[in-house]
Amino acid sequence: MLRYSYRLYPTPDQQIALARAFGCARVVFNDALAMRQAAHASGKPYITDAQASAALTAAKATPERAWLSEVSAAVLQQALADLNTAYRNFFDSMTGKRKGRKVGPPRFRSRKDSRQAIRFTANTRFKVLANGRLRLLKIGDVEVRWSRDLPAVPSSVTVIKDAAERYFASFVVRAEPGPLPEAEAECGIDLGLGHFAVLDDGTKITAPRFLRRAEKKLKRVQRDLSRKEKGSNRRDKARVRVARAHAHVADARRDFHHKLSTAIIRENQAVYVEDLAVKGLARTRLAKSVHDAGWSAFVSMLEYKARLYGRDFRRIGRYEPTSQVCSACGVKDGPKPLHVRAWQCKECGAVHDRDVNAATNILALGRRERLNARGGQVRPPLAVAQAVEAGSRRGAA
Ligand SMILES: [Zn+2]
Repeated sequence: MLRYSYRLYPTPDQQIALARAFGCARVVFNDALAMRQAAHASGKPYITDAQASAALTAAKATPERAWLSEVSAAVLQQALADLNTAYRNFFDSMTGKRKGRKVGPPRFRSRKDSRQAIRFTANTRFKVLANGRLRLLKIGDVEVRWSRDLPAVPSSVTVIKDAAERYFASFVVRAEPGPLPEAEAECGIDLGLGHFAVLDDGTKITAPRFLRRAEKKLKRVQRDLSRKEKGSNRRDKARVRVARAHAHVADARRDFHHKLSTAIIRENQAVYVEDLAVKGLARTRLAKSVHDAGWSAFVSMLEYKARLYGRDFRRIGRYEPTSQVCSACGVKDGPKPLHVRAWQCKECGAVHDRDVNAATNILALGRRERLNARGGQVRPPLAVAQAVEAGSRRGAA
């Protein structure tokens, strides 16, 4: 399941229709949530999906909620389905059935939420027309900027309005583009701090200028906002500018990640990345730069593209001290403070760039894992493979 997002350009009339649909979906969601919370508070059993759906039908017959009939019934049903999913995730998280970060109970939606969304599933007959417009029930034929091709017929579309007042269509597609022809090369990637990424062949990748420029602008408008008086008109305007700049940075970053990950996956049969376990870094001073660089988003792109195109992708355990071990002779040379960018191995005399050396070690570790996984012939283990040191961290190591 893949998501493909495109910018939408609704006409003023369509914007009004969308605003109405966002509002109705929100009310349906909130009504059902309030009903379930009330049942819970008075010790009654959980209200089933069917009961919530019946309550919606009954509400539409009342004068207070009659206006819900102005929007597509399927959009309202979808709002209920979203709430049901939110509850299911919450229950599964509580019982431990769902792994990962804890999921809280569903929360009320607000018209002030920075993201407004409605979903159309295939059976509600949204349709991509021959003229490139997107037909949405009770909204109209909306203009789309097709920045890339949809690889297959989508199964659903979510229409989103973000804080910068832009509209997007996010399609869900079950796509099987199939494997690429086999490539010779393999690649180890060190996600550096000085550079966005360093490859074992010595390539150092920095964020492109358009992204750095967008980030600079974001900082400037954020500073402007902090200087504006609370509750003032100017502050409201500054807030919209910040939201726009944020969106701009996010777009530029996603674009950069897409291009880079596609290039790396195309050229290499296997790609190995150090597992940063970004969450483990969350409270360190490295955290900010980790989040700014958006590594985890980039690494997940590498991962899904590898799966898509039949490439091998591996994360190398985060406790392997890849920056301490000489990639030439395998001797562990001891911890190096962050400011040490280059060093010479005391054993074999090889001179290393810190990040390229780490990338080379990641490549060696990845190759070993890959061979093991295939049950193939394994070379004698490198020193780096045994040097497991709990608590060491990339960068601080
Ligand atoms: Zn050495």
